[in-house]
Amino acid sequence: MGRELRGRFAPSPSGRMHAGNLFTALLAWLSVRSRGGTMVLRMEDLDPDRCREEYARVLAGDLEWLGLDWDEGYGTGGARGPYLQSERTDCYAACFRSLEERGLVYPCFCTRAERLAASAPHRADGQAVYGGRCRNLTGGERARLAQTRRPAWRVRVPEEDVSFSDGHLGVYRENLARDCGDFIVRRSDGVYAYQLAVTADDGAMAITQVVRGSDLLSSTPRQLYLYRLLGLDAPEFYHVPLLCAADGRRLSKRDGDLDLGALRARFSPEALTGRLAWLAGLLERPEPVEPRELIPSFSWEKIPREDILVPKGLFEK
Ligand code: GLU
Repeated sequence: MGRELRGRFAPSPSGRMHAGNLFTALLAWLSVRSRGGTMVLRMEDLDPDRCREEYARVLAGDLEWLGLDWDEGYGTGGARGPYLQSERTDCYAACFRSLEERGLVYPCFCTRAERLAASAPHRADGQAVYGGRCRNLTGGERARLAQTRRPAWRVRVPEEDVSFSDGHLGVYRENLARDCGDFIVRRSDGVYAYQLAVTADDGAMAITQVVRGSDLLSSTPRQLYLYRLLGLDAPEFYHVPLLCAADGRRLSKRDGDLDLGALRARFSPEALTGRLAWLAGLLERPEPVEPRELIPSFSWEKIPREDILVPKGLFEK
């Protein structure tokens, strides 16, 4: 028997959501609701410099306004909380310790400039491949460097392909050593890295289905590797296309006129849902609809696989 379907939406409360975030949230919600699963809302406020609890409250309010609900999570509670990453440090520390005890992580003293200078070719997503400079430092070298610098911590990756079948995009493969290199699981300021936290959380919250933007597709092999090291069951992954402006650039927080504050001033929840559902291929015309009316006919087959160009004027009244 399969595991009970548990999906999640895991936004970072670092500002107001924009149309692209809401598009992903709608698809994650429909995917879970159309199969009778449980929806979890987790706030990824890992980065204390960028995230605020106030944003989390506004974000939850924006989801509710649209008509997206959740069974467990931020503001609702549940057996697998807390649902704010800033309150889950013990969970990350336990995972980190388990890696450390097995010699799977090591301190990296490289500065950003050193990392970039020593890095092998850059990945398609623009991130540098770590060249392994601090991988084999001796105990003495580490002690000397530790006198002046606080290290980040990296996990050792093997020369090995990790491949998985994305529920929407099909097979994706990456060689961890060649395409990524040893990656950071704890930053030099002590904050646990996204890759470790998201894996620890989805594991601890028994998530079986992750729906998120395709900008995170290339993070998935790293996360699958961590699932394996931590002995956690991995979920299925569905990566959804990003919404792009006419010049091909993906929508982001910089498009202030497309944040939820501006969109709520211009549209009713139904009018906005209709536009998002039309972009997703779920409606023939961008006409008003409630999210729950889309549940019966939801199908991954209808969702485009390429990034979606938002026609000019669609989000203007
Ligand atoms: N918190 C991440 C973001 O808002 C999403 C993480 C995930 O879905 O794995 O971009």
